[in-house]
Amino acid sequence: MTAVTVQVPAKVNLQLAVGPARDDGYHDLVNVFHAVSLFDEVTVMPGASGAHPGSATLSIDGAIDSHTARVPLDPTNLAARAASLLAREVTSAGPVHIHLRKAIPVAGGMAGGSADAAGALVACNTLWGGRVAPERLAEIAAHLGSDVPFPLLGGTAVGTGRGEILTPAVAEGLFHWVFALSEAGLSTATVFAEYDRLRPDAPVPALDTALMTALAAGDAPALGAALTNDLQRAAFALRPDLRHTIDAGRAAGALGAIVSGSGPTCAFLARSAGHAQELARALRALPECAGTVTAHGPVPGATILEATPAS
Ligand code: ATP
Repeated sequence: MTAVTVQVPAKVNLQLAVGPARDDGYHDLVNVFHAVSLFDEVTVMPGASGAHPGSATLSIDGAIDSHTARVPLDPTNLAARAASLLAREVTSAGPVHIHLRKAIPVAGGMAGGSADAAGALVACNTLWGGRVAPERLAEIAAHLGSDVPFPLLGGTAVGTGRGEILTPAVAEGLFHWVFALSEAGLSTATVFAEYDRLRPDAPVPALDTALMTALAAGDAPALGAALTNDLQRAAFALRPDLRHTIDAGRAAGALGAIVSGSGPTCAFLARSAGHAQELARALRALPECAGTVTAHGPVPGATILEATPAS
C-alpha cells in the first residue's frame, strides 16, 4: 500500500448519564452513542525513512480554519498516538505521515479527536498488512480513550463503564439532525469538573428505556422527547449562551434539543431533511451561532475509502 484513506463519523450522545467521580478520576457513564454523517478523513502513507516505526508527521486541512488551527500537529495528536500504539504490535510497522481532513468541530463535544484516532488505527492497520484483528483494535482504541471504540463500530450503541464497553442498539430508520456550532471550544475535563461541583451526589447512571423504545421504533418525536445529557447543566454554567441556542431551536420546532456531549455544539432533532434545513436557517440567525451542519444518523463506523497499492 502507498496510501490508505479512512472516513470516520462524528457522534452525538442521545443519552449521557454521568455517575459520581470514581477513585481513578473517571466517571461511570451510560452513554448512548449515535454516529452521524459528519465525517473526518484520515489518510496515512509511509513516512520519512529512518524514522521510528509508528512515529508520525502530520498535516491538516478542513472546513473550519479556526477549528483546524487548534489541532496539535505533534505526537500528542490522538491520531499520532493511535499509530504509535498500534505499531508496538505490528512487526511490519513503519513511520507514517497522517493527513487529517477535518469536518468534525474541534473541542465541540462530537468526539472528533477520538474519530481521528479510530481512523488512524484502521488506516495504519491496513497500510501495515491488516494483521491486527478488529477485537484487538477495539481494545487498543479503549486504551486511547473512552470515546475511541465507538467510531470503529458506528451505528447506535450503548456505552457503559467509562463509556468504552459497547453494546450495539437497535435503531429503525434515519434521524435528521442539525448541529449549531460555536466559535470557541469547551474542554471536556473542565465540563466534567463543573459537573462534579454541581452534582457531588450524582446517582448511579441507568439506561433510559423510553429512549431505547423510541430508537427501535424509529419514532423521532418520542426520541426527541427522550434526549438527555447530564453534562448540559455544567455546559450552561460555563457557557450561558448555549441555553439560548437550545431554547431557540425548540421554539423553531425541533423535536428535541440537547448539548452534544460536553459541548459547546448543540444538537437538534428534525422531522425530516427539509425540516432540518429550516431549523438550520433559524439557528444561523442567532448571534452566538457560528454556523450549522445538517446530518443524518445512524451511519457506519470507520470505513476505508481508498487503499492505493504500491506500483
Ligand atoms: P469529546 O466529545 O470526546 O469530549 P471533543 O469533540 O469535545 O471531544 P476533540 O475535537 O476531540 O473534542 O478535541 C479535544 C482536544 O483534543 C482539542 O482541543 C485538541 O487540542 C486535542 N486533539 C488531539 N488530537 C486531535 C485531533 N485529531 N482532532 C481534534 N483535536 C485533537
